[in-house]
Amino acid sequence: MKIETLAVHAGHRIDPATAAVTPAIYLSTTFERQADGSYPQGYHYIRDNNPNRQALEQCLYQLEGGVAAAAFSSGSAATMSIFQSLQAGSHVIAPLDAYSGTASVLKEIFVPWNLSVTFVDMTNPTAVEQALEPNTRLIWVETPSNPMLKITDIGKITDIAHQANALCVCDNTWATPMGQNPFKCGADLVVHSTTKYLGGHSDVMGGVVITKVENDLFKTLRKIQTIGGAVASPFDSWLVLRGIQTLPYRMRGHSENALKVATFLSEHPKVEAVHYPGLPTHSGYEIAKQQMHVFGGMLSFQVKGGREKAFDVAAKVKLFTRATSLGGVESLIEHRASIEGVGTKTPNNLLRVSVGLEHPDDLIEDLAQALN
Ligand code: PLP
Repeated sequence: MKIETLAVHAGHRIDPATAAVTPAIYLSTTFERQADGSYPQGYHYIRDNNPNRQALEQCLYQLEGGVAAAAFSSGSAATMSIFQSLQAGSHVIAPLDAYSGTASVLKEIFVPWNLSVTFVDMTNPTAVEQALEPNTRLIWVETPSNPMLKITDIGKITDIAHQANALCVCDNTWATPMGQNPFKCGADLVVHSTTKYLGGHSDVMGGVVITKVENDLFKTLRKIQTIGGAVASPFDSWLVLRGIQTLPYRMRGHSENALKVATFLSEHPKVEAVHYPGLPTHSGYEIAKQQMHVFGGMLSFQVKGGREKAFDVAAKVKLFTRATSLGGVESLIEHRASIEGVGTKTPNNLLRVSVGLEHPDDLIEDLAQALN
């Protein structure tokens, strides 16, 4: 089935009790058992399972072409679960350019818990090979990367991981299942912050881990989800499931708009560089063309004139909101180095943009007046 159809139907069914077309939200924390103690409908306590969360999980694994999913209360909780599933003493290879929170989770939580980590340029397979250690158990891929929009060849990194008996995990938040399918490139697990494009309206936080095969690793992840308890709430699950129904069409709009905005910026005399994988001049364009179906709504650009000029542009825009996060219908702009804080490698003249679903001409007009 095509993704547009899956997005509308996967995880949905007519409510057998009421014939409601849209799902009810089940807030009950507990469920009645049969006299013999069984619970044939599969629910007994909200942390263990809930109809809304289950429906969301069913939808998400089908969208990614996996077999099972575990929905969490945030993308970071989903990320945490994967590192929690590793044996102490394991080594992880992670991208230098990635969501800064993922690096913080590794450095501030898991290194003290006896995981070791090497950060590498994931676009350079040789550097990844050189970073391998006998105890490397996992390679983390995020493509397009945050905030430089670098493109990693998922298939190549998966091969390196598998030759070393390690897992390849892909954070697919920015591309979404509409943009690329990491399982088809060989990845073992896919992670999303559903807070972004899957929810799609900047009003819900969540995360998910999806597995390509049912295995012991996924059993461990399920335990971390249900015993640890960082689960997606019924209402949050409902909101994400609703958001997903329009994901394919939103992603087409985001991508079309982003390409137009990126093209405009790349021709602007006050812009030093534009990072968008849909531009033929982008260093990762050829790989992106092969592994992505649409290039997504995220881009970043560097202005001439340094940090001050970048702040000036962000201050002058009227349609773009100065705010962090991404993936909603409204366009956002942010000075990423300030958000990432001390030690960031993000250039000081860089602005990251989440291109929304407004008319692209209006977005371009707004950026034009802010740059001039
Ligand atoms: N992964 C990526 C690529 C992100 O951009 C983010 C957040 O910005 C996360 C994970 C973390 O998600 P959350 O904020 O839902 O914890």
